[in-house]
Amino acid sequence: MAEHVRAAHLPGSLSSASELDAALDAGLLTIAYQPVIALRSGEVVAAESLARLRDPATGQLLPPDAFIPLAEETGRIARIDRMVLAQAVPLAVQWRALMGARPFSIGVNLSVGGLSQAGLADHVRTTCLAAGLPCNAVVLEVTETVLSAIGSGHEDVLQAVDELGCNVTMDDFGTGYSSLSHLARFPIDGIKIDRRFVWEIGTGGRGGLVAAALVRLGRDLGLHVVAEGVETPEQLAVLQEAGCPFAQGYLFSRPLSADDLTAFLVQSRRGVPLPRRELSP
Ligand code: C2E
Ligand code: CA
Ligand code: CA
Repeated sequence: MAEHVRAAHLPGSLSSASELDAALDAGLLTIAYQPVIALRSGEVVAAESLARLRDPATGQLLPPDAFIPLAEETGRIARIDRMVLAQAVPLAVQWRALMGARPFSIGVNLSVGGLSQAGLADHVRTTCLAAGLPCNAVVLEVTETVLSAIGSGHEDVLQAVDELGCNVTMDDFGTGYSSLSHLARFPIDGIKIDRRFVWEIGTGGRGGLVAAALVRLGRDLGLHVVAEGVETPEQLAVLQEAGCPFAQGYLFSRPLSADDLTAFLVQSRRGVPLPRRELSP
């Protein structure tokens, strides 16, 4: 794709595909890992891999908004998604060893560009095999944009990763036009309830009720349900009341460096203390 494509970008963003290539070639892609907590036990059951890029000019860590859109526009996203998987999978093997008999999965986000790579499932399989990670410890997080693209010609991709045993989770659930029809149509194992619904809990808006209803819907369908962006004890209490099994958010932990996630896992082996707030009757 054209080198001259430029992002309509934020201050501090990379502005051209060649800058992005140079940063990737220089090994400046790093990953932050955000723990996912089981709300019954307080145990950490997974971590989501979130890409960061060290700005070659300033040395600052850039968030995904500053380079993922450019990577998507210029055909570099498949490379980034593969690099994230290659970094995260061997770490997941170490983290599983640290967790002993307890289950631990690693989540990676997948863009549409990643799907058009014919060998996605092969890539996941060989990366896991090389590191010694069972494929069923990998959670592929896909948004509705990705599922719509699958609907128009990439059907076999999800089928192939499903056959490998990977878990497929629908990210930002509830924000798209056809969340429910996608659920009915594709081999989806879980949903992540979008943080915009979670943030409405306690504000008196309907979004809070929608969050609780989506938890119940997901559970009725036998899906893994994760609430995203949990920031307050009140949000946690409402989600627990609705029977939400898993959550992630700043209330428990921000995304961490690999070393800091290791320390977090060691510290949390007896469970993350869950802040308590009684619900009003
Ligand atoms: P996402 O997959 O929905 O990731 C969750 C985002 O919410 C992350 O933002 C995370 O840092 C943020 N977050 C988590 N808990 C809280 C909270 O309690 N409060 C608030 N305010 N935010 C919270 P981040 O890291 O900036 O990532 C943004 C998006 O970039 C991700 O949204 C995902 O769509 C995309 N992305 C990140 N890494 C990758 C990647 O490796 N490949 C692809 N294709 N996309 C990626
Ligand atoms: Ca995600
Ligand atoms: Ca999300």
